[in-house]
Amino acid sequence: MKIDFGPFINGESRIARGGKRSPLINPATEQTWGEMPGATPAEVDAAVNGAHRTFEDTWRDCTPGKRADILFAIARGIRENAAALAEADVNCIGKPISDARDEVALGAKIFEYYAGAIGKFGGQTIPVAAGGFDFTIRQPLGVVAAIVPWNFPFPIACWKVAPALAAGNCVVLKPAKPSPVSAVMLGAIAHHAGLPAGALQVLAGAGSAVGEALVTHPLVRKISFTGSTAVGSRIMELAARDIKRISLELGGKSPNIVFADADLEQAAAKSPMSVFANAGQDCCARSRVFVERKVFDAFVDRFVAATKTIVVGDPRDEKTQVGPLVSAEQRKMVEGFLDGARNDRRRVACGGTRCSDRGYFIAPAVVLDCEPADRIWREEVFGPVVCIRPFDDEEEMIREVNDSPYGLSGSLWTRDIGRALRVARRVESGVLSINSNSSVHVEAPFGGFKQSGMGRDLGMAAMEGYTELKNVYVAS
Ligand code: NAD
Repeated sequence: MKIDFGPFINGESRIARGGKRSPLINPATEQTWGEMPGATPAEVDAAVNGAHRTFEDTWRDCTPGKRADILFAIARGIRENAAALAEADVNCIGKPISDARDEVALGAKIFEYYAGAIGKFGGQTIPVAAGGFDFTIRQPLGVVAAIVPWNFPFPIACWKVAPALAAGNCVVLKPAKPSPVSAVMLGAIAHHAGLPAGALQVLAGAGSAVGEALVTHPLVRKISFTGSTAVGSRIMELAARDIKRISLELGGKSPNIVFADADLEQAAAKSPMSVFANAGQDCCARSRVFVERKVFDAFVDRFVAATKTIVVGDPRDEKTQVGPLVSAEQRKMVEGFLDGARNDRRRVACGGTRCSDRGYFIAPAVVLDCEPADRIWREEVFGPVVCIRPFDDEEEMIREVNDSPYGLSGSLWTRDIGRALRVARRVESGVLSINSNSSVHVEAPFGGFKQSGMGRDLGMAAMEGYTELKNVYVAS
């Protein structure tokens, strides 16, 4: 299958016309390896109109069985093109190849999950006081705009596109500027698998132009967004004008809480990758670590030792665990946080420096002696930086954990099940794992509290979010 880098509209890879072209820069080599033309306003309009036509003409009324067959075929297409999809994300954002492969496999699993969900997703019958017969139906919304970030480009695209299609919507997918290639490939794979032309359109380009044109297009009924809190707030503002449905998966500053009774070896061995994976460019990164004072020194020693063993380097190498940051700007931003911490005399126990002449690499950094008011402790760094602080009292620690505008993810480590459940209830976050680093399960809802967002991706909750709930009453 030939993959073109132009927009994918109505079943065709288009040669881009007048849209602004952005270079594709490999963050590991700093070499420009391609160009991606942004969609023009006319292409945005053509994509949304085409999606709307396909919704009305075919996809809305496609039988559940046929829809499921097509989604299963998309999953097969993803597996058949796995190597090329993984390579695209390695080249675009410097994702280590082993992670890129896992994320492509996750994308296929997501399509399989929602293909299977189609036949299990229905309404209710309700015994209303008036008698008669009352039932609910879940109806698709129409055209959904899926706007995704660059840090997990393929799985996030899949976890928006698959449930939206499964519920009977058509989708216009807008990838982020650094990472459009796997999204365009997904459009072609889905079409090849039998998805009607127009049911999945893919438009690259700048958020301020292509993104806003999509959000404000009168035929777009829902915006499913993952990205920064600032852009999420802007989208909410624009969507409010027409009461469009939105779901927002936004930033985070997630806690990792280690009690003295935890399996310290296990907690210290696993915790570094809960923040440094994807070079820390992870909305769920556990970047604030709270350690009970009794075991603080022992934990920090182990954490720093484990951090020093992380293999940072060429993302094409199978052994690499952490690749470069996505861009020179992202690296500068991360270095700004570290400089601020050093100026405040915070201790950088390891890492925090550039570790290659070429590529946007920074060695994973462990920062100690922070204060709760420090910028590096409060703000999302989105780089390989963790701060570790001791705590004495459970109540006080929970107050500090919740003293954040964010509430996305987190971990806690303890052998005391009562404490685990008590603290899990009190932490303000949409996702929490106990004695584990996990954040994402295809079958379970994923999303944030507070400024980390609203609505849920994944699980059956995502499918509900791509429907309107209609109640029908039949008199008897
Ligand atoms: P971003 O907000 O800059 O961009 C995200 C997407 O929105 C991109 O496709 C971008 O082009 C588009 N966009 C930008 N401005 C827009 C506008 N005005 N209107 C419409 N679309 C617009 O985020 P990013 O830099 O790509 O990703 C990093 C951020 O994403 C971090 O804050 C991270 O925490 C967050 N994130 C959250 C989750 C989650 O599930 N909660 C997952 C991954 C990333």
